[in-house]
Amino acid sequence: MTAESPRPPRRILVVGSSVAGVRTAQGLRAEGYTGELTLVGAEPHLPYDKPPLSKEFLAQTRTAEDILLLHDDAAADPGFTLQLGQAAVALDPALRRVRLADGSLLDYDALVLATGVRPRTLTPPVGKPEEAPCFTIRQLSESAELAERLAKKEPVVVIGGGFIGAEAAATAAGLGCPTTLVESSPAPFSRNLGPEAGALLAGLHAEHGVQVLAGARVTRVERLTDGWAMVRLDDGRRLEAATVIVGIGCVPNTEWLESSGLALDDGVVTDEHCAVPGAEGIWAVGDVARWYDADSGRHRRVEHWTSATEQAALVARALATGERRAFAPVPYLWSDQHGVKLQMVGRRSAGDRAEAFTAATPAGDRQIVLFSRDNRLTAAVTFGWPRGCMTVRQALAKGDGFADIRARLAGLATALTPLDLSPSTYPEGNRT
Ligand code: ADP
Repeated sequence: MTAESPRPPRRILVVGSSVAGVRTAQGLRAEGYTGELTLVGAEPHLPYDKPPLSKEFLAQTRTAEDILLLHDDAAADPGFTLQLGQAAVALDPALRRVRLADGSLLDYDALVLATGVRPRTLTPPVGKPEEAPCFTIRQLSESAELAERLAKKEPVVVIGGGFIGAEAAATAAGLGCPTTLVESSPAPFSRNLGPEAGALLAGLHAEHGVQVLAGARVTRVERLTDGWAMVRLDDGRRLEAATVIVGIGCVPNTEWLESSGLALDDGVVTDEHCAVPGAEGIWAVGDVARWYDADSGRHRRVEHWTSATEQAALVARALATGERRAFAPVPYLWSDQHGVKLQMVGRRSAGDRAEAFTAATPAGDRQIVLFSRDNRLTAAVTFGWPRGCMTVRQALAKGDGFADIRARLAGLATALTPLDLSPSTYPEGNRT
């Protein structure tokens, strides 16, 4: 921990009005910062939370109002300006000035970059919804349009088996749409979860009627004359769908910083405190930040909601009080699919040993996959077992040994039985 300066900056500008930016602004006030605070957002809507866009908002069980991140904060706080509907287009770190799309200039003493990521598009691009009915899930307006289409219960093809694709497929199937998910990797849902937990998730999707086509890459989406889409796979198969949802990853929104001289490398490069080296008074938080992770000795960028909120709190504290801390999280993410809460804690690396268990609990059977390396627990994935996940999370934070953690998990369940994850024992989706 080091002290930055005894006095907080007079004017703080936060660029980006998603959870990282909003939580930074709220954190600043919570830490006692009383200076001028401006939050800039490209979208015209009041800031909202993104995780529900592929789940409850898409299923229309939560409204746009329900998922707001900010309500009347601006009205109640005379030193707070919320400037929406204008993207930042340039930064001059020497003048400490940001230019917005309408040409207006904002001066700052400290700047927090929280411009996030945007969905990757297929190559070649498939165009806008009026050309082919393709949707991504990242913005409220697009998700609202998608929700209306899904309510018609017509066939859906989801491209990509990451969290966005998996959640969207679960939501579409839950709404009664015949749903097919296409994933180019042979092990579906494995990028984050690893092949073992990915296989368990594929089984859950199969149980709920989602057809998972793994090892197949979408090469093209065409618009048919009736307005539906033809999705072409690299193995020659063709799928027709009323709606296509594209969830093939994201790219950081850093183009507007290209002339600024800041170090950019698939994100804004920061030190372990989330401060941009060599650019005094500039910080980056959330999905756009590639921070120096002292634990692994390299820069990392993650697109996890929890990480964004933790970085926001850390930077807000540093700016308000001068107290800098290294960002050293126990990574955590969650998802809800087919009524099951899926949680992952820790960091799994390729080559980690994976062991799966069924935990018999009074509420029913739950699954957990434990990852370890050199007999140390590295990560865990739980299906419908929040208590199991929280136990692992606390143990990882304390640095407890693998045997202790297993014993504690066994104590939470009536029985903890090894689950055979050899490929013949679990459904790998309906490969056709
Ligand atoms: P997201 O945040 O959008 O869920 P991820 O990067 O976690 O993104 O997952 C995207 C998934 O999409 C990856 O598993 C990747 O293998 C898959 N993918 C990428 N391009 C294609 C494609 N053309 N066809 C099918 N799957 C794809």
